[in-house]
Amino acid sequence: MEFDTIAAISTPMGEGAIAIVRLSGDEAVTIADKIFKSPGGKSLTTKDSHTIHYGHLVDPKTNEVVEEVMLSLMRGPKTFTREDVVEINCHGGLVSVKRVLQLALTNGARLAEPGEFTKRAFLNGRIDLSQAEAVMDLIRAKTDRAMNVALGQMDGKLSRLIGDLRQALLETLAQVEVNIDYPEYDDVEEMTVPVLVEKCTWVKNEIIKLLQTSSQGKILREGLSTVILGRPNVGKSSLLNSLVQENKAIVTDIAGTTRDIIEEYVNVRGVPLRLVDTAGIRETEDIVERIGVERSREALRGADLILFVLNYADELTAEDERLFETIEAMDYIVIVNKTDLPQKIDLARVKELAGDHRIVTTSLLQEEGITELEEAIAALFFEGQIEAGDLTYVSNARHIALLHQAQATVEDAIAAAQDGVPVDMVQIDVTRTWEILGEIIGDTVQESLINQLFSQFCLGK
Ligand code: GDP
Ligand code: ZN
Repeated sequence: MEFDTIAAISTPMGEGAIAIVRLSGDEAVTIADKIFKSPGGKSLTTKDSHTIHYGHLVDPKTNEVVEEVMLSLMRGPKTFTREDVVEINCHGGLVSVKRVLQLALTNGARLAEPGEFTKRAFLNGRIDLSQAEAVMDLIRAKTDRAMNVALGQMDGKLSRLIGDLRQALLETLAQVEVNIDYPEYDDVEEMTVPVLVEKCTWVKNEIIKLLQTSSQGKILREGLSTVILGRPNVGKSSLLNSLVQENKAIVTDIAGTTRDIIEEYVNVRGVPLRLVDTAGIRETEDIVERIGVERSREALRGADLILFVLNYADELTAEDERLFETIEAMDYIVIVNKTDLPQKIDLARVKELAGDHRIVTTSLLQEEGITELEEAIAALFFEGQIEAGDLTYVSNARHIALLHQAQATVEDAIAAAQDGVPVDMVQIDVTRTWEILGEIIGDTVQESLINQLFSQFCLGK
């Protein structure tokens, strides 16, 4: 494929220790060679692939030294884009990086569009579409578990599974072909339907399994939407603070993304919590007080998890009981806080109200019970779930939609086969399922979709 040479800053904007300007394309090395002077004076074009060079960037027009740099030279196809790639490591400041980029642009490179490096990797066959999307997820990953999922997907886990499913469908189609080619053999017909049903049922079940991971996948990607609830002064802010302190979430700093001030990410034993409306809790002490009971119900409705805090040193109030009613149908954990103070709460009554929900006692002041709370959160999330380790998660909305479509079509195929519909008719549904699954890995997608997907990337990736 013919591509021009693109360049972009591929590290986050702002103050960093180093910044990288990346070039990719046929002319990457020649362009770099025009602006790079090594102490020995040798041309970059004579250097081996996958080598690092120290030197200076010099503007060929003015002979002015622009930067002191380390330069990595990597010739295709063993690069991320499969093209020749040059990475120029320079000092962090924004001004200096921009000057380096400018120099590359005035000497023959074109500014890369967002996602264009990854798009090239895809177009050059280095990665498939689900892997490219994983790169995007990785950039946005908020927790290390989400990052692992994205890494697994980038590594091709999902692609391999989809590949297996498509292979099974192809084998089914081959079987159907035999039947169409040799209709005079009755036993072929007899064989075809059970084999078709069996293979398609396997595919259907695998799709269902994958879809079952999707809610978890979404949570891993976006965090479990969590609300800390309770009367004023029970310890909500204290709880928030101790969760944040002990479970610092990885928040990737990406150029152009402003951090959402009303959400805080924490990572509890691999479970990402997105603590919603924490600014509200911090500022006004109480979500109920601040926005009123009706509207707080609204806020609660979207929550995946409620951390409901009660005061151990106070009697249960009518408001506490009302809050129990409000969250009745939701996933919640009761936290009875301030156990360092004399007990006034009726714990038997709390148990009665909480029913099957977990109750944890804490003294946030003395940092007691936090481990138990974390265990309760992790247990709630992973209960009845297959151990996270080897599972392939789907978390991407596009993949989920396609899997639903594939499930519906393969079910049509199974039903038709069982109803005695002629196999060459059933074949249409099987082929369609094969195509839909292909869209997940980008085998059968149109160019417009590809452009749209890649335009969502950050600049420089
Ligand atoms: P919020 O109004 O629910 O957010 O409650 P805060 O977290 O602001 O806490 C209210 C008060 O209770 C503060 O003075 C905290 O220091 C105190 N507090 C929080 N947790 C405990 C605890 O476990 N024991 C004691 N004795 N005091 C606590
Ligand atoms: Zn508070």
